[in-house]
Amino acid sequence: MKRPLLAACIALTALLLAGFTASVRWGFFGHRRINRMAVFTLPPEMIGFYKKNIEFITEHAVDPDKRRYATRHEAVRHYIDIDHWGVYPFPEVPRDWTEALMKFTEVGVLPSAGDTLRLYRDTVREQAFINLDYSGVKLSAPYQTAYRDFFEQQIRPQYYEDEWKVDCDALGALFGLGPGSLDCRSAYAVDHFSEYGIVPYHLLQMQYRLTEAFREKDHGRILRLSAEMGHYIGDAHVPLHTTENYNGQMTNQVGIHAFWESRIPELFADEQYDFFVGRAEYIDDPSAYFWEAVLASHQLLDSVLMVERELSETFPEDKQYCYEERLGLTIRTQCREYARAYHQRLSGMVEARMRASVHAIGSSWYTAWVDAGQPALPAFGEYEPSVAERQEWEELQRQAQGGQSKGRAHENE
Ligand SMILES: [Zn+2]
Repeated sequence: MKRPLLAACIALTALLLAGFTASVRWGFFGHRRINRMAVFTLPPEMIGFYKKNIEFITEHAVDPDKRRYATRHEAVRHYIDIDHWGVYPFPEVPRDWTEALMKFTEVGVLPSAGDTLRLYRDTVREQAFINLDYSGVKLSAPYQTAYRDFFEQQIRPQYYEDEWKVDCDALGALFGLGPGSLDCRSAYAVDHFSEYGIVPYHLLQMQYRLTEAFREKDHGRILRLSAEMGHYIGDAHVPLHTTENYNGQMTNQVGIHAFWESRIPELFADEQYDFFVGRAEYIDDPSAYFWEAVLASHQLLDSVLMVERELSETFPEDKQYCYEERLGLTIRTQCREYARAYHQRLSGMVEARMRASVHAIGSSWYTAWVDAGQPALPAFGEYEPSVAERQEWEELQRQAQGGQSKGRAHENE
């Protein structure tokens, strides 16, 4: 009995240490730099406002990472384990949020006696119906119309609840039954989708919210959402944010996440990368655009892993990891020369993904502004956050410093 406990202790300690040591992470350095550079892609009508507030845009680039300590709903917004669902180009993952959630949400009924009955889709009839086998009778409803309406009204609004409940009569009505006619003590729904990450869907949501902020000419909100949008777009451009093997834990390459997205940019971005990426462009179809970014990231995944694997097998073993002083602490990290070798063998991949992030962020901001009717933005004077906003950030900071991340500590490992 002692071994598993010991193993658990070691694992926990390793996890804590990993989270602790890799505190400079596209983590902090990368996200800040990317957001900052995105400002320079903007057209004259926007750039004055963003330049005046460039420190804000830079500093708040990392708020979403801090928020992972405050709510368990945050972590999944930073990634999608797309390979959990199939293989490229992942036709089984609906690009539409409601459809994805609907497809992978389990809905069940507890009758007065006997086992739980589950709703299931009729795949023979091209998934056109949702069914419930009930006392020998098959209840049926059209999947894309009636069931979608039911799902949107009864289930989706509970997204942030801990437990999803389903009203028995509403479920009966879905199948054309009157109140009390369905033998149902209770009914429930369980989300089996979000835990594998939702970044492309969240990006679209953020795009709407940013557009709305421009429409309302709410300058504080525009800045805050712009900064946060930059964060999520940056994450979507990282290959290791699109896989279950997000830290190389399945291929004996633990630590590769921070190696690729933190250590490499930290060492080489300032001296070598060119972040002038041209002008922001209008995005016609934001959903398709964000999905493209995610899929492009995923297509680089094999190289990210393979190149490191080959290198680790050929590079002198005692020259791969070094100890460095950081903020008064000694941390174990990839040696500079090892990192340089990885960087070179990736032939500009990290820089290319950072550049693509910068361009995508500028384009997202620009698109939101255009879609909102190109409102005039104040070009002079820095935005003054309210007392409430300041308090919120202080609280975020406090939680991030003292707390344990809720959900997957995606970038900390
Ligand atoms: Zn993140």
